[in-house]
Amino acid sequence: MSSTLEFALTAAAIVVIPIVLYLLTCWTGSRHRENCPRCGAKKLRCIQSILATVKIDGKRAPDHWSYYECEACHSRWKEYHGELTTVSDDEWEQYCAFEQDE
Ligand SMILES: [Zn+2]
Repeated sequence: MSSTLEFALTAAAIVVIPIVLYLLTCWTGSRHRENCPRCGAKKLRCIQSILATVKIDGKRAPDHWSYYECEACHSRWKEYHGELTTVSDDEWEQYCAFEQDE
């Protein structure tokens, strides 16, 4: 009788846990600022996190990346698979523009 429930809980855990871990990563990242690659200040703020589904060899796979802005020198960065790279203005507009209205 409880096997259906167990299955549902297991399935829920498999789906939910990575999302929670991922959200925690960004939340933690927004509190413990990373060093800015440009000016070296510990002022990188997580502006936006993207969860997306990409196609690799015709198969759908989950993917994610985050956008950061330095509060000291206002440089913009994209964190993808643990690497910080610069972001083009177009890309920043596409994903982060609405944040600037605050
Ligand atoms: Zn900076």
